[in-house]
Amino acid sequence: MRHDIKHLETALSAYPRIALLEGATPIQKLSRLSALPTMRGCNIYVKRDDLTGLGGGGNKLRKLEFLLGEALACGADTLVTWGGLQSNHARLTAAVAARQGLACELILTPSPIRDDDDYRHNGNVLLDELFGASVHQLPAGATAGAFALELVELQRRQGHKPFLMPLGGSSPRGSLGYSACAAEVLRQADALGLQFDRIILPNGSSGSHSGLLAGLTVAGSSTTVLGYSVLGTAGETLEVTRDKTRDVMKLLGSSTELSPEAVQIDGSQRGDAYGAATASMLTATRTLASQEGLLTDPVYGGKAFAGLLESIASGDLPAGSNVLFIMTGGIPGLFAYRSAYAR
Ligand SMILES: *Cc1c(COP(=O)(O)O)cnc(C)c1O
Repeated sequence: MRHDIKHLETALSAYPRIALLEGATPIQKLSRLSALPTMRGCNIYVKRDDLTGLGGGGNKLRKLEFLLGEALACGADTLVTWGGLQSNHARLTAAVAARQGLACELILTPSPIRDDDDYRHNGNVLLDELFGASVHQLPAGATAGAFALELVELQRRQGHKPFLMPLGGSSPRGSLGYSACAAEVLRQADALGLQFDRIILPNGSSGSHSGLLAGLTVAGSSTTVLGYSVLGTAGETLEVTRDKTRDVMKLLGSSTELSPEAVQIDGSQRGDAYGAATASMLTATRTLASQEGLLTDPVYGGKAFAGLLESIASGDLPAGSNVLFIMTGGIPGLFAYRSAYAR
């Protein structure tokens, strides 16, 4: 079926949205990497969602366009969210609040596997403070979601109007940001005269994957989307992503049944835990940096790009395929992982 981008864009226009990106992010070909004989003639393209200007950039800005639209429509004066200590979503929420003149409350949980100085104080943690957010660092074992609900209650009693966003901003409304990205990718692919055989991205809280897949489906495109899970196991992530994709499709007014095979998750790159450095992640980050001068982060992009390289090496991606890798940003995270890169 010929895809219908207009239909998707019309469905998206029903939701309030505040522009935080400078326009469409570029799609670029990785020419040096694609030319290596080991890449078996595959053409590797990247969607530069790391090239988003505000607050150090990254994929969460797309979700925040719709979340901020929703928050302002509710008359909110404070943005509240939670995540890990090195959360990119928390950092970008703080930046968006600063730009918008809103207060920001961040609830951050420690990592069970990393507690060196850089992890605790550099990268996203440093930036949260620069953006002027109020940071609540919880002790190990505390439940961030429950703390967030109490904080919101307290804020209301004090006369504030808090707007609470879930982990990663991955509510169905937030995930619409990646349905908008789907429309963008389809338009760019048409303009380039390209058809992508596979789109690859990291999957953490599943909103980006779900939004992208829902958008493509609603636009009538059957392009394969493969998410590399970095937070949950493959099984957990598959279920969450399926449910979220259905929720987003509902928001987009779709009555199409999502086929169960449409949701593809690969759990092979996660390693022992969320945020655990793996040998293939370190190699993938170095390859992209040294061959193309591009940065991926150690928690998300590095692992998904490692998966991409492995799927070419193993023949899982047929020779000559056109593959699009979504560069989701998270670059400040590199500075929290200095010790992982030490040789
Ligand atoms: C949050 C994040 C992701 C994953 O997106 P989800 O929507 O949570 O699955 C990928 N890359 C980076 C850099 C992120 O910060």
